Amino acid sequence: MFTGQFPYFFGPEHGALETRARDFVASGSIRERVAALGQSGLLERRDTRSLAVTRRQLAYRDPLTDLAFVIQELGCTPLETAGVLPEVVAAARSGQRVLAFGLTEPGAGSDVRAVATTATPDGDGWRLTGTKHFISNAPDCDGAVVFARTPTGVAAFFVDHPATEAQGVASHSIGRLLLSHTPATLVSPRGFALAFGTLERCRPSVGAAAVGLAARALAETVAHVRGREQFGAPLAELPVVRLRLAEMKNDLDIAALATLHACWTRDQAQGARVGPVMAFGKVVATEAAQRVIDTAVQLHGGSGVEEGSVVEMLYRAVRPLRIYEGATDVLLGVIGESVATRKGAGD
Ligand SMILES: Cc1cc2nc3c(=O)[nH]c(=O)nc-3n(C[C@H](O)[C@H](O)[C@H](O)COP(=O)(O)OP(=O)(O)OC[C@H]3O[C@@H](n4cnc5c(N)ncnc54)[C@H](O)[C@@H]3O)c2cc1C
Repeated sequence: MFTGQFPYFFGPEHGALETRARDFVASGSIRERVAALGQSGLLERRDTRSLAVTRRQLAYRDPLTDLAFVIQELGCTPLETAGVLPEVVAAARSGQRVLAFGLTEPGAGSDVRAVATTATPDGDGWRLTGTKHFISNAPDCDGAVVFARTPTGVAAFFVDHPATEAQGVASHSIGRLLLSHTPATLVSPRGFALAFGTLERCRPSVGAAAVGLAARALAETVAHVRGREQFGAPLAELPVVRLRLAEMKNDLDIAALATLHACWTRDQAQGARVGPVMAFGKVVATEAAQRVIDTAVQLHGGSGVEEGSVVEMLYRAVRPLRIYEGATDVLLGVIGESVATRKGAGD
């Protein structure tokens, strides 16, 4: 548990929340999982460390429930920040509505400033036309925050019950938002500020999910190498296997520390610019978790790539974390820029 291992990052409320998240169980569709999360109170708005302790626990047991959890956060945060549609937020945070966050387009991935979906005024409201793709929970959502180009810049909108189409990504609910003269409500004319602020709030929690997946991989691996005998003894007795376990544990703790440093920094920031630290948390944690899970597969041998094995599932689950909410390479650019331009870098 984060709060037991690194207590100095937390208050008492975080420990209680982590225990609740650890004991939470859900199954079924994304809609059913969101409903159960809402009933349990886990979807209430909390600080960044709370997002992290929750995601660490959910991802450890069930990456799909972690996905259901965080996409509600991505959907609610822009509406809360802009102070609009409180009835939608209340329904989403109590698990009665499933939201999506629609920024990415076929021509606007890492380069989100290339957003081409258009918004045109229509009476009291707006109409949106374009396609958003790789949108988590799109096939299950009944409302989406969508970023689109107006005559004066990119704004944020809310679309009620958008038309959707599923896409195939393993271990994920994902799809397209199909917008064709679709009615929408303006959330904020400052779309990019809202999008970047939302992603920055959620970014360190991607690291926390990575820690959860990696911790599960380490636990599975320890059990495997203790039980699997080759050369007349358990694999765990081989010096090289112990070295690999040590590397996994080091990477797991590096991932946790980078994540919690980012979360703590965000919670203390009070409006200060912390983007490079958020980038650091996500990059270090997701890259380290990928190494842990790769070693887990290796130490499982053939059973590590067998369909249905836990580490095989973890291997597929961890991979997209290094791509979405800022690909590693893009975030390294953010960190690199701050190092290259900041006075006193390296002090
Ligand atoms: C599982 C999953 C869930 C997602 N969920 C959502 C969601 O809910 N909402 C949403 O809006 N989007 C979502 N996305 C989209 C995600 O944010 C984009 O995939 C991501 O931003 C990368 O865009 P792209 O796929 O178009 O890759 P591209 O932009 O084409 O980039 C490909 C690669 O090129 C490199 N690269 C690109 N630009 C740079 C740069 N400036 N510097 C260095 N290297 C660079 C990186 O290695 C990058 O991975 C999701 C994606 C996945 C895979």
